[in-house]
Amino acid sequence: MKLIDGKQIAKDIVTELTEEVAKIEGPKPCIAFIRVGEDPASVSYVRSKNRTAEKIGIKPLLFELPESITQAELIKKVDELNADPEVHGILIQSPLPSQLDEQEAFNRIHPNKDVDGFHVQNAGRVVQEDPNGFASCTPAGIIEICQREGISLEGKHVVVIGRSLIVGKTFALLAMQKGPHANATVTVCHSRTRNLPEVVKSGDVVVAAIGRPNFVTADMVKEGAVVIDVGINRVEDPSKKNGYRLVGDVDFAAVEPLASRITPVPGGVGPMTVAMLMKNTFKAYKLQSSS
Ligand code: NAD
Repeated sequence: MKLIDGKQIAKDIVTELTEEVAKIEGPKPCIAFIRVGEDPASVSYVRSKNRTAEKIGIKPLLFELPESITQAELIKKVDELNADPEVHGILIQSPLPSQLDEQEAFNRIHPNKDVDGFHVQNAGRVVQEDPNGFASCTPAGIIEICQREGISLEGKHVVVIGRSLIVGKTFALLAMQKGPHANATVTVCHSRTRNLPEVVKSGDVVVAAIGRPNFVTADMVKEGAVVIDVGINRVEDPSKKNGYRLVGDVDFAAVEPLASRITPVPGGVGPMTVAMLMKNTFKAYKLQSSS
């Protein structure tokens, strides 16, 4: 099938983890969520992560901190959770209010509890190909999709559009790693890239992580390419009750006929992020239980 069903792959991961967690005798894996303020998107993301953890049997702890919190108070909470042996994973929901230094807070999480993979040490572990590190969940989810769908990256030209740490840059690093999951030849395009359409057209695999609806058009895509659309963009749609619909960074209707495989939005890469967070939490539990 041409369409990649990320929703189903994520469900399979949740089922596998549920079976693994059920086998654990004694305290179950535990993830602590820190949410600051009441940003509606953050409330909804944390709720969804919390629900998936509960479904698997991972114990969720939710800390809702006031919008006005200081950096010192946030750090104090992180330190408490770092010191708690019953907490295996810690996630600080981004974005944080502007008075807070987000990267400093991420770097305060113990690297072995950093299940979102945003700690500087985990970024380094991705570069060093350390299997005990945690890679950011969305790029790790794309690798997982490729592995489970039999899409080999070996020797392929993978063109990544976007160079954020959370998606583009980390995916590029993962795709160029040594190993059967990767071994790709990688090009990263960004806002300063010259001749971007030609570069993208040379890609056997195109990963779009830009944040602009319909950025990747049919003339940029080689026939038979695998197209992975990471973008999540709201576009106005008066026919919808809430007045908008979600689209990716790829002009899906025009590109789909050319692609050999393609992820839809929604239902492609999106659901993988929470599934990979749970996988990272189980990995953190195993690493901490064996040390
Ligand atoms: P970002 O804004 O941090 O990075 C966007 C990148 O796109 C930048 O590196 C920039 O150089 C590049 N870019 C911007 N304009 C460009 C242009 N005109 N030409 C070429 N490159 C350009 O965004 P992000 O956090 O990486 O997210 C990208 C998209 O992925 C967003 O739509 C976001 O909502 C989505 N996203 C989805 C998930 C998920 O599926 N769970 C997770 C994270 C991000």
